[in-house]
Amino acid sequence: MKREKSEQLYRRAVEVLPGGVNSPVRAFRSVGGTPVFMESGEGCHVTDVDGNRYLDFCNSWGPLICGHRHPDIVDAIHKQLEKSLTLGIPTESEVELAEYILGRFKKKLPSIQKIRFVSSGTEAVMSAVRLARGFTGRNKIIKFDGCYHGHSDALLVKAGSGLATAGIPDSSGVPPAMTSDIIVLPLDDENAVKEAFQKHGNEIAAIILEPVPANNGLLLQRQEFLEFLRTISRQHGALLIFDEVINGFRLSFGGAAEFLGIEPDLITYGKIIGGGMPVGAFAGRNDIFQLLAPDGPVYQAGTLSGNPVAMQAGLAQMKLLNDSLYESLEKKRQKIQDAFNAKNYEFSMTGLGSIFWFYRGENPPRTSGQIDRDSMKIYAALFHHCLDNGIYMAPSGYEVGFLSAPMEDKHLDQFLDTVFAFFDKKN
Ligand SMILES: *Cc1c(COP(=O)(O)O)cnc(C)c1O
Repeated sequence: MKREKSEQLYRRAVEVLPGGVNSPVRAFRSVGGTPVFMESGEGCHVTDVDGNRYLDFCNSWGPLICGHRHPDIVDAIHKQLEKSLTLGIPTESEVELAEYILGRFKKKLPSIQKIRFVSSGTEAVMSAVRLARGFTGRNKIIKFDGCYHGHSDALLVKAGSGLATAGIPDSSGVPPAMTSDIIVLPLDDENAVKEAFQKHGNEIAAIILEPVPANNGLLLQRQEFLEFLRTISRQHGALLIFDEVINGFRLSFGGAAEFLGIEPDLITYGKIIGGGMPVGAFAGRNDIFQLLAPDGPVYQAGTLSGNPVAMQAGLAQMKLLNDSLYESLEKKRQKIQDAFNAKNYEFSMTGLGSIFWFYRGENPPRTSGQIDRDSMKIYAALFHHCLDNGIYMAPSGYEVGFLSAPMEDKHLDQFLDTVFAFFDKKN
């Protein structure tokens, strides 16, 4: 497979874009080689600038649950283009999208009553944390090692030495003061959470987590652990924030909250909510949102927030989501997971809904510490084998794969055959 134009573009890119990219994982650093530059996407395929076609399991890192350029979304965008690109003045589009989402939440997530739109997942989480702090009048936040919450200063944090100590910045350029109120705990560990509340009970504003952590492999949690977090946060007057930037609208319309039957106080969204356009949102109870500007003292704003083109794309996307879509995606994933695991290769596959992940080890990891770091070299080889055979997976073994609605049996078989060929050759 020739990728000359990609290589030329990459040489141009590194001259003007740091690392040649606008988001680090795209640069192939963990799998090696030259990033592929894409020209277009259609259904479940992407085509690169050299004309090579790939079955796409990256799906823009999550938004494209219905594949590339779904006609309903493209139409909605075209219609909006005739009216305006942005106004910075209220429009019906943002009311429509909010009404549509909250209307469908009414039965299963009755406490999610207000929603504010922003332009990215990072912004959504940063704002939800601010709102939780404003609402409780407390500063400390419990965050879990292995969950990603975007790149805002306070949340770029890793565990300090020992449990229940202040987190230390995970990135250069973040002053320690920015993360000193973040308590980083391991997932899957009730005692660590209890200890943190014993020590800091009335200072903790919120617990934040991805209920189905999918940014550091797929770390499926025990239902009891998640229910425990709901209970203990309530006991101590802290809020529970579900970061559903990946889970939202993916595991069910009501995301992980509906799927697991656990209602948090605040939920953040991104990715699918914009149907491929840059949209994020945070949502929760009326009494919490009364504190948000302009009604209350917690400030939050955005020039392009509620952008009408993005709102119309999001609305069209929302209307495509229903139980039969979720069931069919779940079936497809179960099919590849069962077929792969039946082979007893060195790797196994875990998954939930339309999310899957390869791991090496006895059991699917539940904490980031249980991930086999050495297996990442094998993933890198698998990635390149797939790439050379027309399959685009995420260029890092710590990233999950996403199925999309247009994938049919023949696509899943192509994927399985390609992956089987890799492991058969390896043995
Ligand atoms: C992607 C993601 C974010 C960040 O969203 P951006 O749109 O990339 O800023 C935050 N939290 C979770 C759980 C995510 O998956």
